[in-house]
Amino acid sequence: PAAQKPGLMGRIFGGGAPAATAEPRRALDDEMLEALEDMLIQADMGVETALRVTANIAEGRMGRRVSSIELKELLAGEVTRIMAPVARPLPIYPKKPQVVLVVGVNGSGKTTTIGKLASQFRAAGKKVVIAAGDTFRAAAVEQLQVWGQRAGVPVMTAPEGSDPASLAFDAMTRAEAEGADLLMIDTAGRLQNRADLMEELAKIVRVIRKKDPTAPHNTLLVLDATTGQNALSQVETFQKLADVSGLVMTKLDGTARGGVLVALADRFGLPIHAIGVGEQIDDLDAFDANEFARALVG
Ligand code: GDP
Repeated sequence: PAAQKPGLMGRIFGGGAPAATAEPRRALDDEMLEALEDMLIQADMGVETALRVTANIAEGRMGRRVSSIELKELLAGEVTRIMAPVARPLPIYPKKPQVVLVVGVNGSGKTTTIGKLASQFRAAGKKVVIAAGDTFRAAAVEQLQVWGQRAGVPVMTAPEGSDPASLAFDAMTRAEAEGADLLMIDTAGRLQNRADLMEELAKIVRVIRKKDPTAPHNTLLVLDATTGQNALSQVETFQKLADVSGLVMTKLDGTARGGVLVALADRFGLPIHAIGVGEQIDDLDAFDANEFARALVG
C-alpha cells in the first residue's frame, strides 16, 4: 500500500493506516473530544476555533459509537463549513486599471506572489503593470524585476530610498496611459517602525486616489503559513495599517498544515484569494475549501 502521511486521527484511534478489516469504533466521550481538541490546537487552529469545532462535532453525538472515518468526515465537514465562505478568487473589476495594493511583512512572499499573480493574469489576457513600492530594499526591487521578466510584465522602479507614493503615482499614470487592466503595487514590510509604515501606506493610498478615488480596489495581505499562530496577529496589525480586503497564504507546500487558515477564517472572515504552494511561477493555487479540509484532516 502507498505510504500515507499519518492523518490527524491516528492519535485517537491508534495507528495511522486504515484497518483492513472492519473499522474500529469508539464511543464519542470527553476523552476523545479532548484528544480531538489537542490535535486541532497542535495543527495551528487556535484554541477558540478548536473548541468550537469540537463542540459542534460533539453536539447530539455524545456516547454514540463512531469510526475514525466517520470522525474524519465530521471534522472535514466542520472545516469546510468555516472555509467555504472565504474561498474566493481575487475579484476582477471592469475598472481600468484595477489597483491591487500588496502588503505583508518582509519574507512572507509578497514579491513571489506578485510575480505569480502577474503571470496568471497575463495568461488570462490581462495587461498588468507592477510597481516596486518597497523602494528602501534594493534586493526586493531586484527580485521583483526578475519576477516581472518571468511573468512578462513591466516593473516600474524608483531610485533607492525614494518616495514610494511618488512611484505609485507614476505607476498609475503609466497604467492609465497604457490601458493596463491591473496595477499591482508592492509595499514595504517593515513592522519594526509601524508609525512610519502606516504613514507610508496611507500616503500611497492618498496619492493614487488623486488619480482614482475608488483605488485601491483590493488590498492583499500576504501571510506565511509557517509562522503559525503569528499570522493572526499579523492580520490584526495590518488591518490597523491598511484596509485589508483579502489574504494570500504562502508556503503551504512545506510542513505547515495550514490549520491557522481555519482560525483566520473563523476570526476575520477575510477572503482567501490564493495559496502559495512552492517557489515556482505556477505554484499559486485557488483556495478550495473542501480540498483543504480533506488535506488538513489527513
Ligand atoms: P517578500 O519579502 O515578502 O517579498 O518575500 P519573497 O517573495 O521574497 O519570499 C520570501 C521567500 O519565500 C523566498 O525564498 C520565496 O522563494 C519563498 N516563498 C514564497 N512563496 C512561497 C511558497 O508558496 N512556497 C515556498 N516553499 N516558498 C515560498
